[in-house]
Amino acid sequence: MNTELEDLYQEVILDHNRRPRNFRALNAGQKAEGFNPLCGDRITVYLTIDNGVIADVAFQGSGCAISKASASLMTESVKGKTVAEAQTLFERFQQMITAPAEAPIDNLGKLMVLAGVRQFPVRVKCASLAWHTLRAAVDARGDVVSTE
Ligand code: ZN
Repeated sequence: MNTELEDLYQEVILDHNRRPRNFRALNAGQKAEGFNPLCGDRITVYLTIDNGVIADVAFQGSGCAISKASASLMTESVKGKTVAEAQTLFERFQQMITAPAEAPIDNLGKLMVLAGVRQFPVRVKCASLAWHTLRAAVDARGDVVSTE
């Protein structure tokens, strides 16, 4: 990967860290909490599923720039997708961030800005936390979130 591209990716990550998208709580739907003890990242993912489609998804939490940017990008990437499509995307994302540094990467659109974490194994959990938490939120089927 050339330096110019790396700089661009870095910029996108910093932008999503500073101004995370969909950074809010949802009062309806399902949620799950995730924690990455290695780094101290904490996140809550909220989502509403309508007819198998992720109608809305949002998150709150605190953590390092990678975890926050990854959560922000995750919400943008899965909104409007079916649960199955989101699961496939998670698998491809996980493959990308754990692939050998020199391996070619799939075109995952904006998510490709996080491909650089594969050079830093300790950061892989920061990048995947939001996705694991998303899956937990999807599995929380039937849970009613109370605003009390
Ligand atoms: Zn982290």
